[in-house]
Amino acid sequence: MIKDQSCVFCRIVADQEEASFVYRDDKVAAFMDINPVNTGHMLIVPNRHFSNLVELDEAIGGHMFKVGQRLAQALRCSGLRCDGVNLFIADGAAAGQTVFHSHLHVVPRYTGDGFGFHFPASYGRETPRGDLDSTAAMVQGALAG
Ligand code: 5GP
Ligand code: ZN
Repeated sequence: MIKDQSCVFCRIVADQEEASFVYRDDKVAAFMDINPVNTGHMLIVPNRHFSNLVELDEAIGGHMFKVGQRLAQALRCSGLRCDGVNLFIADGAAAGQTVFHSHLHVVPRYTGDGFGFHFPASYGRETPRGDLDSTAAMVQGALAG
C-alpha cells in the first residue's frame, strides 16, 4: 500500500514505475539515478516514505549509509570509471532536494569529471576559535536527547 501515490520513489519501490535496481532488502532499495552525474550514479531510498532527515527513522538512516558503503566499494570494483565516491543527501529545497522522499546519492567520481561543489567567496578563511566555539554551543544546545 503506497502512502503517497504522488511520490515517484514510492512508486518505484512499489514496482509501479520502472527502475534499474542494484540492491533491495526489507528496509531500502538502490537503483540507478535517471539523470546521472556520472555513469554509475545510484540512489538509496528507504522503502517507507520519509520526506526528510527529521522524519527519517534513525535505524533506517544508518542502514542506508551501510548499503552506501557497500555500493561505493562495488563501484570501485565494477569496471565503471570510479577513482573516488561522493555520498550525499540533499535535505530540503535550499540544499538541492528535488524529490521529497529522503535518499542517499552514491556518485562515482574521477578527476576532471566536471562535478563539484561551489563555495562562497568567504570560504577558505580560517574562523576564529571563539566564533567556532559559540557556533558549536548553538548546535550542541539544540541537540535532541
Ligand atoms: P535530489 O535533487 O532530491 O537530491 O535528487 C533527486 C534525484 O532523483 C535526481 O538526481 C534525479 O535525477 C533523480 N530522479 C528523479 N526522478 C527520477 C525517476 O523517476 N527515476 C530515477 N531513477 N531517478 C529519478
Ligand atoms: Zn515516497
